[in-house]
Amino acid sequence: MLYVKGVSWVSRNGKKRSNEHSKRYPLVYYYDESGHFHSKRVKWYEIPFYKAQICKQVRIFCTECQEKFDVLVKKNSVAVCPKCLS
Ligand SMILES: [Zn+2]
Repeated sequence: MLYVKGVSWVSRNGKKRSNEHSKRYPLVYYYDESGHFHSKRVKWYEIPFYKAQICKQVRIFCTECQEKFDVLVKKNSVAVCPKCLS
């Protein structure tokens, strides 16, 4: 399970002026299950797949546990309490 933070295009020759030979590639930033941050190169046709998985961090208050939590939520899904899963 990946928690994707974002996808951006990166050019290989950092400060140099872009020319026809400069290669740009998409880079995906994500957290793994244990919360470690990573970035990796992906193919351009994989971008929609990763963009669909972009998560945002939201703060929720669970009425069951009477506690606040910071959780990563995917687009179009509802935040779930990590403790009682409700
Ligand atoms: Zn709860």
